[in-house]
Amino acid sequence: MTSDTMQCLICPGDRTVKLTRKPVPEPGPADVRIRIMGSAICGSDLHYYRTPQAERDQLGVSRLALGHEGAGVVDAVGPGVTYPAVGDRVVVYHHIGCGHCAHCRRGEPGFCRERQSFNQVRDGVDAEYVMVPARNALPLPDDFDFEDGSLLACNLGTAYGAVRKAKASGDMTLAVSGLGPVGLYTVMFARAMGASVLGIDVQPSRIEMCGDVGD
Ligand SMILES: [Zn+2]
Ligand SMILES: [Zn+2]
Repeated sequence: MTSDTMQCLICPGDRTVKLTRKPVPEPGPADVRIRIMGSAICGSDLHYYRTPQAERDQLGVSRLALGHEGAGVVDAVGPGVTYPAVGDRVVVYHHIGCGHCAHCRRGEPGFCRERQSFNQVRDGVDAEYVMVPARNALPLPDDFDFEDGSLLACNLGTAYGAVRKAKASGDMTLAVSGLGPVGLYTVMFARAMGASVLGIDVQPSRIEMCGDVGD
């Protein structure tokens, strides 16, 4: 039985985050509610964290739940939803497009002009529950745990998209500049596709990790 309110993390700005309570969202038509089991921190979360509070207040975003990289279990579905079902393990896909423009119909809601981004327009995944359109709940295979799942859509997806666009293959050497999480995943994917990789960073610990994941 779900209580009426949930815990969630908000980011007022000025390098602060705060745990607070909000009403548990009720799924409308074609929406699903997901009980979040894992969420990850993205570079853009840090950008919001470092933004001055006055700017966050002016944008009206200081009380929105933070986070756009999450995975969990479907907890409730709204009218008209045929997939997913309650109990399904899912990854939250973070670009919520209008669903009908050319970009959305091509499966690229990240380019949709009307997209609703987490923590910019709507509550994000650093919360006990999040509500998204059913099409934004993607199946999470059983051999991925929720921590892995939370990284799949944004962090890993960004790296995978870059390596696919570069058409990485065995006759290539790719230079990856910046070995943060996305950079290191890029190294992993490029190596898995057979490419040689030149990892570039100013931090020795990251260069060392590049050697570990690039072997
Ligand atoms: Zn992200
Ligand atoms: Zn659209």
